[in-house]
Parts: sequence; C-alpha cells; structure tokens
Amino acid sequence: MMTQRLKPDDAGVSCAAALLRAGALVAFPTETVYGLGANAADPGAVARIYAAKGRPADNPLIVHVASPGAIDEWAVPDVRARELARRFWPGPLTLVLPGRGLFGAPTLALRMPAQPVALALLAAVGRPIAAPSANRSGRPSPTSAQAAYQEMQGRIEAVLEGPTARVGIESTVLDLSLAEAALLRPGGISAAQIADALGEHIGEAKGSARSPGTRYRHYAPEVEITLFADDERQRLIESVARALSACRGSWYIGLAETAPKGAKGLLANDVRQLQQELYAALLEAERQGAPVVAVLPPQSSSAAGVRDRMLRAAGGKVQAAQGREE
Ligand code: AMP
Ligand code: MG
Repeated sequence: MMTQRLKPDDAGVSCAAALLRAGALVAFPTETVYGLGANAADPGAVARIYAAKGRPADNPLIVHVASPGAIDEWAVPDVRARELARRFWPGPLTLVLPGRGLFGAPTLALRMPAQPVALALLAAVGRPIAAPSANRSGRPSPTSAQAAYQEMQGRIEAVLEGPTARVGIESTVLDLSLAEAALLRPGGISAAQIADALGEHIGEAKGSARSPGTRYRHYAPEVEITLFADDERQRLIESVARALSACRGSWYIGLAETAPKGAKGLLANDVRQLQQELYAALLEAERQGAPVVAVLPPQSSSAAGVRDRMLRAAGGKVQAAQGREE
C-alpha cells in the first residue's frame, strides 16, 4: 500500500476526511502525539487499526470528538465528567465513561484534542474518530509527521501532516465509570489539577484490570534502554557517566542539569522540553544504534507523565546507582 502524505490545508483535510469516511486509516497530528485514525462507527476500519499496529485486541481505543457536547451522544457523563470537559477540553485529558454501546463495550474513552488540524479533520469527517498513537504496538509514539510516516508507511492510506506535537506524551486517562475517580495513565493534565477541579482525591489504578493498556510493553525502541533509579542523585549521575563512557556513541536522555560532562543525546532544559522531545530522542538513539541509552527521570511532581514513559521504555527495569569501583 502506498501511504499518501497530505498537507494540512483545506484540500489535504478534505481528502483525509473522505478517506476516513470510506473506511481508510489516516494518521493525523494532535497536541499529545500523532494519532492513527479510523471512523469509530465503522467496525471494519476499527479492526484495521489493530492490524496496522499489531495491537492486542483487548486494549480499547480512545475516541476523539469535535466538541464537549459530543460527550452526550456517545457516553453517559455525570457532573464530574461535564466539569472536567468544561475545564480541560480541548486538551490532553481522556475520560472513561459509561458508554452507549460503541465498540460493544460497557465503557468508552473520549477526548477532544487541542490541535487545529485535528479539530478541522473531526469537523470535516462529521463523526468521531477512534485513534490510538500512530506507532506499531510497543514502540515509542511518533510526535512528528515524519516519525508517523516512517512508523506506518505501507500500512495505512495516508498521513495528514502537521506540526511537532506540543505535549509529547499521550493524554492523561481518567476513569469516571465508577463512583471513585481513578487515574489510569499519567499525562499532560496532572492528578493534582484534576483533584483541584473535582474537589476530591484522585486514586491511581495502575496495572489494574480497569486499564488494559498498562499491561503491555510500551514506548520501547529497539535499543537497550537503561533507566536509572532515583536513590542517591550524585552517585547515580556518576553511574550514568560510567555507563556512557564505556561505549562510544552512547546516549543520555534527561535534564541537562543532571547530565554527565560530555554526554550526548537529549539534554533538556526543563521537564516540558524533556516530555516534548523524549520519543523523538528514543527513535533517534534507535536509528543511530546507540550501544547504551541512559535514561534519567526527573524528580519533580510535574514529571509524573514523563517518568512513567521512561520507565516503560526501559521495560520496567531500573538500574540502581553503583558504588565507586576500587
Ligand atoms: P492509546 O490509544 O495507545 O493511547 O491507549 C489508550 C489508553 O486508554 C490505553 O491505556 C487503554 O487501556 C485506555 N482505555 C481506552 N478505552 C478504555 C476503556 N473503555 N476503559 C479503560 N481504559 C481504556
Ligand atoms: Mg499508544
């Protein structure tokens, strides 16, 4: 299959919309990462998303809508859902709500993206778009049109091009289908922001049956990722430095302030930049075949999302700081 590259102008958006209505798969920009879209009401098109990604069948998709009002059409929102949609939509917050039968499931995950091209596409299609990230299952998500094209070339009909994703990691997923709200995945909107809006504590439901997607390997490139734990910062930075200096061409991914001298890779000035550029850095380290990719998560509370993705990219294996060699 030839994958078309469509410019994000009127003609490109119209073409992408026509393809989606006809049952095709189209990758498109959002503010979190690039999505792999299909008409959510077309079971055949939705099945093709799973095939193109190699996604496990029991990991449900997020449905993207064009307005907060669409929430009533596809789900049964309560007062909490309405308040959160009012505050944070469009934006990187996905709400899991009691559904109305779409996908034949009792619950549905919904989000309104804050990205002009995505919103133009949703308006042109005139119906909701099911869209997971536009990567093959288990790999880092694409944050640029070029990365989406490289990842999905030959598997989908088109990539609608747009700017680099502003947030850089996937949306926060909040389960509101039960009485107690639970955070299923950290992301662009923090648990503290949600708790503040709702005036209630937000629990985490990590790895539980409520969050099928969290069971799988995620965001991992085909190079070995070494993630360093947070115990003793100084000893840790020395460990990272030793790991990097042992092999030429090694990569460091973390904040510039904790980077060993002479480290190459992604040396971010702040958490926002690290989050925005993490996936592109993982893919570039993979492209270069870096022998060691040392990933050092930042400690601040605003870094929960990026810490989660770093841990998953490393397959959950954490390397503790090593003592000085004699
Ligand atoms: P992705 O589309 O790859 O960004 O992943 C979507 C995330 O939303 C996964 O972690 C899913 O497990 C989660 N998700 C989607 N729909 C539901 C649902 N109905 N109930 C619980 N989690 C969901
Ligand atoms: Mg994904």
